[in-house]
Amino acid sequence: MQVLFAASECAPFVKTGGLADVIGALPKALASQGIEVRVLLPAYAALRPLLAAGRELARPVLRPGGGVRLVAAQAEGLALILLDAPALFERRGTPYLGSDGRDWPDNHLRFAALAAAAAALAQGAAGDWRPEILHAHDWQAALAPAYLHFAGGRDVGTVTTIHNIAFQGVFPATRIAELGLPRSEYRMQGYEYHGAVSFLKAGLVWSDRITTVSPTYARELMTPEFGLGLEGVLSERRGRLVGILNGVDLETWDPTHDPALARTYTARNSARRHANRTAVEARFGIATEEGAPLFCVISRLTRQKGLDLLLEALPRLLDRGAALAVLGSGDRDLEEGFEAAAATHPGRVGVRIGYDEPLSHLLQGGADCILVPSRFEPCGLTQLYGLRYGCLPLVARTGGLADSVIDANTAALASGVATGFQFAPVTAQALGDAIERACDAFSETDVWHRMMRRAMRHPVGWEDSAAAYARLYRELAAARTR
Ligand code: ADP
Repeated sequence: MQVLFAASECAPFVKTGGLADVIGALPKALASQGIEVRVLLPAYAALRPLLAAGRELARPVLRPGGGVRLVAAQAEGLALILLDAPALFERRGTPYLGSDGRDWPDNHLRFAALAAAAAALAQGAAGDWRPEILHAHDWQAALAPAYLHFAGGRDVGTVTTIHNIAFQGVFPATRIAELGLPRSEYRMQGYEYHGAVSFLKAGLVWSDRITTVSPTYARELMTPEFGLGLEGVLSERRGRLVGILNGVDLETWDPTHDPALARTYTARNSARRHANRTAVEARFGIATEEGAPLFCVISRLTRQKGLDLLLEALPRLLDRGAALAVLGSGDRDLEEGFEAAAATHPGRVGVRIGYDEPLSHLLQGGADCILVPSRFEPCGLTQLYGLRYGCLPLVARTGGLADSVIDANTAALASGVATGFQFAPVTAQALGDAIERACDAFSETDVWHRMMRRAMRHPVGWEDSAAAYARLYRELAAARTR
């Protein structure tokens, strides 16, 4: 079966967040399910070398987008289709922002062109290759199912995935004509959103299926607290909405072979982690008291991630003799908050402001417990890496965090299934309580080691989730041919 992904990011070529990891990894996992995925990506400046080695598939005239080239390229085990439109994509900066840190003023046209290209491919623009399913990811691609619908292309199944509803692609209604959208659908049941155009909403309205990246987030999205104004559409379409948990790349994240670790280890000889703990302590200039755990944070420092609550709960962590290593960057007030905590508690709180991939691996391999107190978390990856590395996750009970960690409550401990700690509500008080529970569990070495071994064996790869996507595609394709 042939599936077209349309997305604005794909690891390792272009990445600003978790979306890229999913687009880079899921096609490979789907291949073993008999699904052939081609990934449509804008040919950003960084992707020009791939264009040169590629094969031209078509030269469609898109609306919007104008005359473009679609070029097939093979790289890093992925089959790509590059949207070659230099006027839109060949620029310095990130996929979304110019070097002044502001959104590109024509982002609506850039990503509408991506969606139009996807719709054209679904209608056979590439001649001999045509997908049975068009799968759009996040707002940047979400107009694709809408364009296909308006063009009458009903024989291709469509799916839109919400990776984070906080990003919706909302633009002024004055753009409607440029976007080539029918004005008659500018209404509450269509793509209108509070007097503006919402790309994501269009995807939700005109896709055959909607997915998001965890079952709990799928439920949360239907509530005003998490749906950010789209809870109504999603509730109406609840029969078509499904949550499928993301996986992790088991080769990149493998404690038995990870070159970023001071010492590699397995679930059976996890005592070897000690060398990594020592390395973390040295890098961060910190140490714990005897019998106390080393906590870590690896995160964007934003309100979503709830790290202001950790600053509030910090005295309770320190009172137990524990230490904290923080790696992250983001909001200035949070960066300053952690830097101030490190200055006030030298030797117990260490902070690195910045993005450091190898250090993030070392932290997972050396810290005892990773803290993820997010206010919302569609899926979350760091808790999955924590499981795989035996760095037990302590998480807020929300979204994918709730779905991937089994809380060490009395029943779970008794039946031997606990893999970490959950807390709710997402308050400093509840976070502090959970930190104390983790400290208690850590002081019982046997309990902790059993949990660590269990966590490390918890399946966090893509296999189950890829099977779930494959089932969804097959159902949709079967429904078309009936
Ligand atoms: P989000 O996509 O909301 O930022 P996720 O948990 O889904 O959160 O993914 C974050 C990814 O970025 C993880 O792979 C995490 O290890 C990585 N990461 C976040 N901050 C840093 C950092 N400062 N240094 C290295 N890796 C980081």
